[in-house]
Amino acid sequence: MQSMVILGATGSIGTSTLNVIAQNSAQYSVYALVANTNVDKMVELCELHRPKVAHMVHAPAALALAQRIAHLDIEVTSGADELVSLVSSSQVDTVMAAIVGAAGMQPTLAAVKAGKRVLLANKEALVMSGRLFIDAVAEYGATLLPVDSEHNAIFQCLSIEAQQTLGKCDLAASGISKILLTGSGGPFLTAELSSLANVTPAQAIKHPNWSMGPKISVDSATMMNKGLEYIEARWLFNATDAQIQVVIHPQSVIHSMVQYCDGSVLAQLGNPDMRTPIAHCMAYPTRIRPGVEPLDFFKVGQLSFFEPDFQRFPCLALAMEASRRGQEATTVVNAANEIAVAAFLAGQIGFTDIVRVNEHCLNIVPQSPLDSIADILALDEQTRCYANEFITQVS
Ligand code: NAD
Ligand code: MG
Repeated sequence: MQSMVILGATGSIGTSTLNVIAQNSAQYSVYALVANTNVDKMVELCELHRPKVAHMVHAPAALALAQRIAHLDIEVTSGADELVSLVSSSQVDTVMAAIVGAAGMQPTLAAVKAGKRVLLANKEALVMSGRLFIDAVAEYGATLLPVDSEHNAIFQCLSIEAQQTLGKCDLAASGISKILLTGSGGPFLTAELSSLANVTPAQAIKHPNWSMGPKISVDSATMMNKGLEYIEARWLFNATDAQIQVVIHPQSVIHSMVQYCDGSVLAQLGNPDMRTPIAHCMAYPTRIRPGVEPLDFFKVGQLSFFEPDFQRFPCLALAMEASRRGQEATTVVNAANEIAVAAFLAGQIGFTDIVRVNEHCLNIVPQSPLDSIADILALDEQTRCYANEFITQVS
């Protein structure tokens, strides 16, 4: 029996994870659910999954939750220190890291430092803390498994040896010449370029293939998501920039590929349903059933591939440039983008202003290296202020 904590339980990945657990309840149990403010959804999840602990980051939400579930035998907690002790508890085997954005970094790192099995959906944690995160995985003996569908696909196409040295593997020594990171191109792949300035949040979050939370959906429309994934892939697979190539594949059937030096290309395919990579990480190295429809090749019919158009997707180019510049630049781009996406969703700025905010913030990338989590958090905070100032000027 694996005892799990779900960080970001009320979100899209959290809900899918709980669905997979419910279908495999002989092997997995829910120790704790963690969310930010959504009390209604948390009440529903508590009634259904009966965790030992329900943690709301927002203190007033925790108070409200405690009143609503007083009839259940569930401890309700709040506070940053309580969250760290929750994920580090000896009663926990596995932590699903599915908080959205930079807010996920510290609880995810706490799980790593407690040597847990960490299922990583929160890509922003790696984008910000890259080297420190990977070093902590090795130092504290944590098991890291990638949930992001592309990284999960790449992981599945690696040798066992490379899988077991995630973050430190030697791609060339494994005979790998390239990682082919696929992306659908999102809802605006073929839209008139001139129409992009006027797209609405509702249009931007309507992804053609995947059902996801609002922030990652906007990131998919700008392809910043692929940029963050490019950085995520660099850290997870110890890859150089030259070892990763972004490939547009609008059908989202191939979830990424690995090209070997002998000409072989291995790929992982499936319906676009996050329950597949979630189940893979939960059960690795075995397999469980997550309730996903088998892929029907006759329905799929055709698979197509294109080179990314950086004029259409300047956020992708920007993230790749930040990746080349280093961890200071990726931390800045990540923070700027979170502020820009929130402002776009709130109707404060236009879709094409997102890249302007991100570009503007690259001006404050420091020359000195980030040596600690405190440095990273300070730069994240500074960038948010800088981005907000710029947004006030342009909106
Ligand atoms: P979502 O918006 O649906 O859910 C976000 C969750 O994070 C919610 O439970 C929310 O309560 C919690 N949260 C938000 N702010 C918080 C804070 N300050 N402190 C604690 N909890 C907070 O997001 P999602 O689509 O499920 O994505 C979650 C993460 O997984 C993101 O990092 C995303 O990039 C990654 N991811 C998602 C998908 C997907 O299909 N949805 C795929 C790959 C990777
Ligand atoms: Mg992905």
